[in-house]
Order: sequence, then C-alpha cells, then structure tokens
Amino acid sequence: MTDLLEVRDLTVHFDTEDGLVEAVDGVTFTVRSGEILGVVGESGSGKSVTALALLRLIRPPGRIVHGAMWFEGTDLVGLSEDEMRAVRGTRIAMVFQSPRTALNPVLTVGRQISRLFELHHGVSRAEGRARTIGMLKLVGISEPERRARQYAHQLSGGMCQRVMIAMALATSPRLLLADEPTTGLDVSIAAQILDLLRDLGRRTGASILLITHDLGVVAETADRVAVMYAGQVVEYCDAEAAFRRTLHPYTAGLL
Ligand code: ADP
Ligand code: MG
Repeated sequence: MTDLLEVRDLTVHFDTEDGLVEAVDGVTFTVRSGEILGVVGESGSGKSVTALALLRLIRPPGRIVHGAMWFEGTDLVGLSEDEMRAVRGTRIAMVFQSPRTALNPVLTVGRQISRLFELHHGVSRAEGRARTIGMLKLVGISEPERRARQYAHQLSGGMCQRVMIAMALATSPRLLLADEPTTGLDVSIAAQILDLLRDLGRRTGASILLITHDLGVVAETADRVAVMYAGQVVEYCDAEAAFRRTLHPYTAGLL
C-alpha cells in the first residue's frame, strides 16, 4: 500500500500564561491509502491537537513549531491559508464528537448535505437533493426522504453522527479524520457507527484516522495503531499486534 499521508516530527506548542504546553512533541506516522489508522491515548495525550494540526486549525496561542505533513505530494505545513482551505473539507474531512452541536440547528439535515454537493461538485439544487438521498442511504439511514426534511433536534444521537459522516463524505475526501466519533453514544449504536466507518472506508477507498481513548475500539476497527502518550507516539504497530505481543507498559495499561 502507498502512503496517503506522512507526518514527520510534528511538533505543536501552546504558549499559555501558565507556560509552554508541548501538546504534540515530535510525532511521526503514516496513513496508507485505504487503511484505518487508530490513534489511541488517554485524555490530554495530544490526539485532537494532532487532528487539528492536520487541518491547519491550530489557533494562537498554539502553533505548529516544526515538522512536515506530506499529503498527496504536498507538505500541508507550507500551504497558504487559501490553498489550505481548498484541502480542508474536500481532500481531508473531519467528523467531530458531539454531532448534534456540530449540525446547523436551523437547516434541515438534507439541505446541509445538499449544499455541500452544490458547493463542491457544482451540481443543481435538484441534483444535490438526489445525491443527498443517496448519501443518507449509504450511511444507513432508513426513510431518507423523510429524514432529509428533519432538523438535528428531531434525530437521535446515532443518526446525527450518521448525518455528520454523510456530510464528511459528500465532498469525496481521501482522508477522513474521526475524533472520538462514538463518544456519548450507546454501546450498540457506537458499534454500528464503527462498522459503518469501516464499511465506508472499504467502499470509497478513503483512509480514516480514527481517534479514540478506547483501545478496544481500535482493535475492532483499525488496521494499524499509533498509541500516544504525553504528546508522543509510544507504540506504532498492526492493530492485531497491539494485542498479541509484549506491549509498552502504557499500552498494556490502556487495555
Ligand atoms: P486529547 O488526546 O485528549 O485529544 P488534546 O490533543 O486535546 O488531547 O490536548 C493535548 C494537550 O494540549 C493537552 O495538554 C491540552 O491541555 C493542550 N491543549 C489543547 N488545546 C489547547 C489550547 N487551546 N490551549 C492550551 N493548551 C491546549
Ligand atoms: Mg481529544
């Protein structure tokens, strides 16, 4: 498999009133085409900051101090804000935790997805609507025509997350960043969402960076795993191997 993304020595600092926070401290990993890389670690280990850095969404007092993020032959670190905007949401898309708050409360979910098709693929409103129904089906939402006319508050948490995934996929990204996508969902619904991500990865060929604090989730879903601790990758191996071989004590502790 070829590499879609190669992160080298990524270092992100926050210069706060209380001192320097070395949130991400020399992180190196790759994401291969079509694979799911699990990024796992306890709260505060630097997972979300890594994802935000990939989208170049680190805001002051934070900054990327050094490192490279090679994606489709370009180092994202060197792109202008305009160039980065073209990558964000189209080549790389993100699914956040707490999907309900990430959805627009005053637009129907169908309209939110349809607008993305119109904006990014230049299709008519009618075509956008048709593609939206197809996308809602793809992410496993039954009665898609009816659901498309509803608002976020009318949907369950699991369904909101399916809508968020539909929005992320509407632009046909090559890399999907999923930051704790099952937080706050019931165990059975969470398992369905993870199944969905794995299935969609296979169908669309997109790579997925799956962030979680739960090594069990990674073992079930990911091909490889990067374990983060205190801003560093302390273990980096096949997901299966994370269970088979002798682990870094911290990884063993996460189990
Ligand atoms: P997690 O692995 O839980 O996603 P984060 O990536 O959110 O962890 O955070 C990594 C570290 O960076 C933590 O110590 C956190 O306190 C710090 N951090 C994150 N965002 C900021 C910020 N905006 N200002 C200061 N410190 C931050
Ligand atoms: Mg986080």
